[in-house]
Amino acid sequence: MLQRPSVDGFRFAQASQTWRGTADIRDYARLAEALPESRGPIMYQVRGFVDSEWRPCLEVEVETALTLVCQRCLGNMQWPLKLRRRLYLAHGEDEAERLEAEAAPSPDAEVLVAGGVVDLAALVEDEVLLGLPLIPRHEEGQCPAGAPVTDLN
Ligand SMILES: [Zn+2]
Repeated sequence: MLQRPSVDGFRFAQASQTWRGTADIRDYARLAEALPESRGPIMYQVRGFVDSEWRPCLEVEVETALTLVCQRCLGNMQWPLKLRRRLYLAHGEDEAERLEAEAAPSPDAEVLVAGGVVDLAALVEDEVLLGLPLIPRHEEGQCPAGAPVTDLN
């Protein structure tokens, strides 16, 4: 059974709290729906901290191995996923815009408007979904022989 802690993101960051564990991919409803072929463990960690500029942050780390469907041959393909993203917390849109400009120019960082509670499991789900390839495909020429070939157009 997946835990779904809801926390005050700012307090979580200021108290340097960490939430980590291992779950089954299928325990995440949105992942189970988006990735029907995937099963197995997913390791997750959400770490709260305050950066050197006193900005509250949550760092999300995920490690798992997904099974995606190749859009060329419709066969399954393994997709190891390991990601780490930093989310800067903002109280509202104005602050989010400022943080966006000064703190989140990197592709591994983004700004999260967190007025009230933050659902940590949803953060993990969001990051996995964002980390998926737009069109999963085996490497060129690597589709298993004998698999049906579909025209992408
Ligand atoms: Zn393929």
